[in-house]
Amino acid sequence: MDTVSLSGKELAAAINADTKDRAAALTDRGAPPRLALIVANDDPASAWYVNSLRKAAERLGIACDTVDLGADASADAIRQELAARGTDGATDAIMLQTPLPSGITLEDVSSAIVATKDVDGVSPLSLGLLAAGLDGFVPATSEAVVELLKHHDIPLSGRHVVVVGRSNIVGKPLAQLLLAEDATVTVCHSRTADLAAVTVTADIVVAAAGRIGLVSGKHVRDGAVVVDVGTNEAPDGKIVGDVDAEAARGKAAGLSPVPGGVGPVTTALLMRHVVVAAENARMS
Ligand code: NDP
Repeated sequence: MDTVSLSGKELAAAINADTKDRAAALTDRGAPPRLALIVANDDPASAWYVNSLRKAAERLGIACDTVDLGADASADAIRQELAARGTDGATDAIMLQTPLPSGITLEDVSSAIVATKDVDGVSPLSLGLLAAGLDGFVPATSEAVVELLKHHDIPLSGRHVVVVGRSNIVGKPLAQLLLAEDATVTVCHSRTADLAAVTVTADIVVAAAGRIGLVSGKHVRDGAVVVDVGTNEAPDGKIVGDVDAEAARGKAAGLSPVPGGVGPVTTALLMRHVVVAAENARMS
């Protein structure tokens, strides 16, 4: 079977073109949309990601402040910065970068991000709105998976989607978004007894575990679609996904590449959320 590459580049470009126009309109009416990126780590992969977000923002006409609190910041210091940005009239959008300092979880601090500026949908309020089917910002990576599938005309209604991973920022919100699209959803995790026995029943498998090669040929039914969310650093320094692409290719009807699949769409959606937050703020 020919495996179609589910590239995210074309979709990301279309989203970015719209975002750029909307950012320019906001700038013409006063000030560019402004994103605050809060960092509290000295992780090289995070630094690389922050830099790529800054460049993406710059290309689209979005102002970006990076606030580095240091890798030994306390939970109180992180919460204070998030709250201060929440009441700062010049800041339209807030994104807290992970990893956080040792011993601090996202859940310890994310409630300090005001929902109207929570462009990556990580606060308990944003996640609750999503679970209740109400309007709010949703985690960009989860949204990117759904948008990528739609862009490639892969139907979701009535299909069985198996999501591998149950984190609060990828797996769980993705399950909610897929339910809203009328998919039948199964969520797997590290305690799933026989992962392959579950994933082979799927029409669509989404790998979001952060484990190189976790999803191999035996996990994929002939003709299934596979979306690879994983971004892992291989021993040779290359960024690779969770799917053994060689094994899946030829079996799967479609497979999203890493890099170039979910990643560019995630960044594009994040930037679109920044513009939406700014538009909402200027209207209120
Ligand atoms: P987390 O580490 O928070 O969660 C990983 C999830 O995978 C957990 O639910 C864990 O289960 C599950 N898991 C781990 N090992 C296995 C296994 N052997 N079998 C089944 N399930 C397993 O990661 P994130 O959700 O933050 O990220 C997941 C991946 O997505 C990472 O590679 C990350 O880099 C990538 N990512 C990509 C983005 C993009 O834009 N492309 C953006 C954000 C993340 P348990 O709950 O039991 O521990």
